Amino acid sequence: MKMQTKAHYKSEIPEKKKEAHRRTNLRRGSLIPAVPRFGGNNGHDNHDATGIKAYAAQSAAASLGPFAIRRREVGSLDVQIEILYCGVCHSDLHMVRNEWEQTVYPCVPGHEIVGRVTKVGRGVKKFKEGDLAGVGCIVDSCRTCSSCQSGLEQYCEHDPVQTYNSKDTHLGGVNYGGYSKSIVVDEAFVLRVSDKLNLAAVAPLLCAGITTYSPLRHWKLGEGKKVGIVGLGGLGHMAVKFARSFGAHVVLFTTSPEKGADAIRLGAHEVVMSKDQVQMNQHLNSFDFILDAVSAEHDINAYLNLLKVDGTLTLVGLPQKPLGIAAFNLIGHRRQFAGSMIGGIAETQEMLDYCADHGIVSDVELISMDHVNEAYEQMLKGQVKYRFVIDMESL
Ligand code: NAP
Ligand code: ZN
Ligand code: ZN
Repeated sequence: MKMQTKAHYKSEIPEKKKEAHRRTNLRRGSLIPAVPRFGGNNGHDNHDATGIKAYAAQSAAASLGPFAIRRREVGSLDVQIEILYCGVCHSDLHMVRNEWEQTVYPCVPGHEIVGRVTKVGRGVKKFKEGDLAGVGCIVDSCRTCSSCQSGLEQYCEHDPVQTYNSKDTHLGGVNYGGYSKSIVVDEAFVLRVSDKLNLAAVAPLLCAGITTYSPLRHWKLGEGKKVGIVGLGGLGHMAVKFARSFGAHVVLFTTSPEKGADAIRLGAHEVVMSKDQVQMNQHLNSFDFILDAVSAEHDINAYLNLLKVDGTLTLVGLPQKPLGIAAFNLIGHRRQFAGSMIGGIAETQEMLDYCADHGIVSDVELISMDHVNEAYEQMLKGQVKYRFVIDMESL
């Protein structure tokens, strides 16, 4: 996921940058031999013994397949992690298929990483060999801007280094994510993981978990608040769990009638079929807050109309195309339309600790690495309950 607010949609990506990406992609495309192959992060083939097994997409139209990558040597503040599980986020799919028009190939996705520490640098204080550890969507930031100083590294004014498809600040070129056997990350961006929870089910907390926990905390949702969650996918099901756990009255909006019973089991008080106008009308002007976690085009106005005076609709979903908003739907009730992106490192740790204390994890389906392409197709059809997680032992 490269969800940089400055360069998200096609119209906002500087032409020069797009051309540079296109050229790089063409250059790399012409080098692609049959898989498996080895690739250094600088885009040149690297046949040395440091090849680490991974899965990559070589172009927007290609399936993911075996690939080998290089990771940097462990620096004094670095933690090397053997990846045990990696969640499959819809952002991985958007990125692999270049739906945000910023993907650099080969692309190794994955930012819901849980594993075991295999080596630490001399200056590392938080971790030792053998510890459990997690890595989410960001692996570095400038650390000095006002956002970084306030624990909001995800909004770093110089752009955070995302876990994949970002500039590799150590090896050059583009960096690679968690669909791989191991990763090396500065300890400041590595999270502590409790051994109390099922590790595979913890992995999705690193993105789906924090992306929903953060806005629910920021807008102070809890007892006495009516909260809507739109879309019961990876993010949506975590949002339902958190909103319920925080004490809010939770209403789940879905396009999938068969998910109704699950939504109640996961913690929703009510379920609304969003295509049923009668059901939707029963909730007009009544919500304090709605979190929209839909991955595709949909009518956002239908949800704005459900907010009461001063209510907020916050977008976390990242559809490929811009959403149209009717101005009257905002001004009528002084409604607010907002967005939110993952969470900072301290808040991610807070969320993981909260989950350990309250026994909250993701509902997952464990898959082998070679099932990932099929998993993408199933995710597109909404056929996942509710997050695929790759067992890295299968790689
Ligand atoms: P997901 O598991 O595929 O869930 C998306 C859900 O959206 C589906 O389960 C479905 O729910 C609903 N949906 C799909 N197509 C729809 C359509 N055409 N109309 C209406 N509803 C539709 O995806 P995810 O991993 O949760 O990610 C959701 C979105 O959040 C993605 O765009 C992803 O890139 C983005 N994301 C953002 C952040 C952030 O920091 N803001 C972080 C991670 C992911 P129902 O079947 O219940 O209708
Ligand atoms: Zn994600
Ligand atoms: Zn910064």
